[in-house]
Amino acid sequence: MKSKANVVIVGGGIIGASIAYYLAKAGVEDIIIIDKEYPSSGSTGRCGAGVRHQWGLEMNCLLAKDSIMEFERLHEEIPTDFDIDFKQKGYLMLAYTDKQVEQYKKNIKLQKSLGIDVNLLTPREAKEIVPHLNTEDLLAATFCPKDGHINPFIANLVYIIGAERLGVKVQKYTEVIDVEVKNGKVKSVLTTKGRVETNYLINAAGPYSQHIAEMAGVKIPVYSERHQILVTQPVKLIQDPMVISLKHGFYCQQVPHGSFIMGFGDPNELKTTELSSSWNFMEEMAERVLPVLPVLKDFKVVRQWSGSYNMTPDAQPILGNSEEVNNLYFACGFSGHGFMLAPSVAKLTAQMLTDKPLDIDVNVLNLKRFAEDKLIKEPSVV
Ligand code: FAD
Repeated sequence: MKSKANVVIVGGGIIGASIAYYLAKAGVEDIIIIDKEYPSSGSTGRCGAGVRHQWGLEMNCLLAKDSIMEFERLHEEIPTDFDIDFKQKGYLMLAYTDKQVEQYKKNIKLQKSLGIDVNLLTPREAKEIVPHLNTEDLLAATFCPKDGHINPFIANLVYIIGAERLGVKVQKYTEVIDVEVKNGKVKSVLTTKGRVETNYLINAAGPYSQHIAEMAGVKIPVYSERHQILVTQPVKLIQDPMVISLKHGFYCQQVPHGSFIMGFGDPNELKTTELSSSWNFMEEMAERVLPVLPVLKDFKVVRQWSGSYNMTPDAQPILGNSEEVNNLYFACGFSGHGFMLAPSVAKLTAQMLTDKPLDIDVNVLNLKRFAEDKLIKEPSVV
C-alpha cells in the first residue's frame, strides 16, 4: 500500500466512492480510499436504496433533486456495462392526520417552487396508482413520479470504477486504526497494513464515523442504530411506487425483479453497529404494513437483514471540515437517507476541499451546529 497520499478517504461506500470520483474529476490527484472490508459491504449494500425529492426543507429538496439528476445521467457520466436499475416510478407518501396533510401541502408548495413535479392526491387518486392500497382512514397522499429505487451495489461499484479510471487507488480489507494529529492537522493514518501520510482526511466511514473522528481527537455527537429490513419472494409486478406511511412508520416497494422490500423506523432499536436480526421484526413489519397493503399477506419472506443508520441529533448529516483539525472533513451522520444524497454531497465535498463556491448552500450542516444548538428541523424524515 502507498505510504503517502494527498487525500485519504476512509470508507468506500456510496459516500466515499462518489466523493473520490468527484474529487478526482475536479483535478485533485493522489487519492486513496481505504476500506476495512470492500465498497458496499457497509450500510450502502444493506439499504432500501429508495431515492426521493419529497423533503420539507429547501436544502434537502435541492440536494435530492441534484442527486437524482446525477443518478439519471450516471451512465453518461461514467459509462460501464453495468445498469443501476433505476426504477423511477415514484414515491406515494400517505397522510392520515390533518396535521400531516397540512405539512404535505407546505412541502408541495416548496417542492413545486423548486421545479419538482409533485402533487397532492385524494385517496381515490392514490388508489389509481396503487390499486391494492387500503384507503380506509387515508386523508390524502403526495406523489412524485421521478422518485424511485436504484440497485445500491451497482451504483456504489460504478462510482468506484469511475474513481479508479481517474487514478484513485482503492485499498480493500484494510482498517484505519488510528489517526495522527499534530498542530491541529491530520498528519497520517495508521492502518492494519501500515501508515499513510496525508494532507487531507475524509471521514466517510458510515456507521463507524464517530470512531474515526475520535481517533483524530474530535468528538462528534453521532451514534449508530440498527435498522432491519426484509425481502419477499418475487411475485408478478403489481406496485409501481414506493409507499411510505409516516403514521405506520414503514416504507415498502417492489423492485424490478418482483420482490417486495420493506422496513420501518423503530426508535427503540439497538444503538449499535451490530448487524443481528430479531425474531419479532417480521411480525411487527406485518402488523404495520398489512393494514395498508393487505395484498402482501400471503407473500413469502425469503430474507431479513439489518444495517446501521449513522445518526445525529437532528437526523441530518455532518458536512465540511472540523474547526479543531481543519484538514479533517466529514461526510457522515446520514441517518436513513445517505444513499439518495450521495452524488450531490460528493460534488459539494469536492467543492469544499478545492475552495470552490458551493452549488448548494449546505453550511448549516457543519459540526458546530450541535454546540450552538442550531439543530435542523426536517419534517420528512422516515
Ligand atoms: P457505508 O456504506 O456504511 O460505507 C462506509 C464504509 O466505511 C464501509 O464500507 C466500511 O467498511 C468502511 N469503514 C468503516 N470504518 C472503517 C475503518 N476504521 N477503516 C476502514 N474502513 C472503514 N438511504 C437512502 O438514501 N435510501 C434508503 O431507502 C435507505 N434505506 C436504508 C435502509 C436500511 C435498513 C439502512 C441500514 C440504511 C438505509 N439508508 C437509506 C441509509 C444509507 O444506507 C446510508 O445513509 C448510506 O449507505 C451511507 O453510505 P456510506 O458510504 O456513508 O456508509
